[in-house]
Amino acid sequence: MRDFVYQAQPVRVVFGRGALVHLERELDLLAVRRILVLSTPGQRAQAEQVAQRLGGRTAGVYAGAVMHVPVEAVHEARDEARRLHADCVIAIGGGSTTGLGKAIALESGLPIVAIPTTYAGSEMTPIYGITQNGLKQTGKDSRVLPKTVIYDPDLTLALPVSLSVTSAMNAIAHAAEGLYARDGNPIMDMMAEEGIRALASAIPAIRKEAADLEARSDALYGAWLCGAVLGNVGMALHHKLCHVLGGSFNLPHAEVHTVILPHAIGFNAQAAPRAIARIERALDIAGRASAATALFDLAYDNGAPVALKDIGTMTRADLARATDLVVSAPYWNPREIGPAQHADIHRLLLNAFEGVRPD
Ligand code: NAD
Repeated sequence: MRDFVYQAQPVRVVFGRGALVHLERELDLLAVRRILVLSTPGQRAQAEQVAQRLGGRTAGVYAGAVMHVPVEAVHEARDEARRLHADCVIAIGGGSTTGLGKAIALESGLPIVAIPTTYAGSEMTPIYGITQNGLKQTGKDSRVLPKTVIYDPDLTLALPVSLSVTSAMNAIAHAAEGLYARDGNPIMDMMAEEGIRALASAIPAIRKEAADLEARSDALYGAWLCGAVLGNVGMALHHKLCHVLGGSFNLPHAEVHTVILPHAIGFNAQAAPRAIARIERALDIAGRASAATALFDLAYDNGAPVALKDIGTMTRADLARATDLVVSAPYWNPREIGPAQHADIHRLLLNAFEGVRPD
């Protein structure tokens, strides 16, 4: 029986090749006049191009976004926004840059226009994270949800193939867990399934030809759908594991999602058969492989890492502490993951550490 609450996030989405030409129109709609453009140091050139496009509306460029949104960068960017009397921030980049925009918006209420260039999906969520003294605090606040998101596949052409693959797997993870969310709804299920389908077909095409615009467009379309799922429904075991591994062991974000996903999906398979059936349908593997195996193969066959031991400095001995952190404060999950499941979670992490292909 269907039983759900549905509420759409109020984000305006402009999607398409060359969609950046609509930027001025979008800023008119928001009635903003002094814009601070944010990016990482590596994407400064893209930020400068956006700033040029704004003409007289550019207040400045702050190209100091870094991973994990350190509070120092937040204060510096916030002060810059104040000094320049900015009334809007544009965040062009991946989740780190969007995250900086969110941290500024949290304090100042400034509207964000997000121009995503990875598939992480942060632009579609009201979730923020700020790191202080080595601890990342996360929260949810509608003020940090971008007002407008411009998805232009041209801007993703420079995303290296390896990061394109892992970032796409990161997006798939949002949709996969959204399909068994306790607060799921039929619209999110449709978006999740379609998102997985689009990304799973785009990954091998981008691997084959990084400049394949059709595939880049499919991947960004999938990222939008999966990001919307992340922003609307609760996440479970997979995201808990990644939060612990990223936060406490400093493993890289997209890679850790890529490695963990097949194992988390395998762990939950029996407890969430309808979700798994939809994932299998989206991956077009009915009867040939399990969702977990197919996700592992999707990563492995496209050159992505499949073992935790290959993506950072975590050791086998660290797995016990990681397990403690997961089971002592678990997220809701379709299969129980409390202290009584310590051995099962430890085994899952051991398999992920060694890169075992789930059966
Ligand atoms: P990222 O933003 O850290 O980007 C990785 C690197 O790729 C950066 O150096 C960036 O400048 C570069 N890059 C991005 N797009 C590029 C392009 N098109 N061409 C060339 N270089 C490009 O990585 P990410 O995976 O997008 O984001 C990860 C961060 O986002 C994590 O901190 C994660 O916690 C956060 N996140 C938050 C949410 C949320 O809802 N709050 C959702 C997903 C991710």
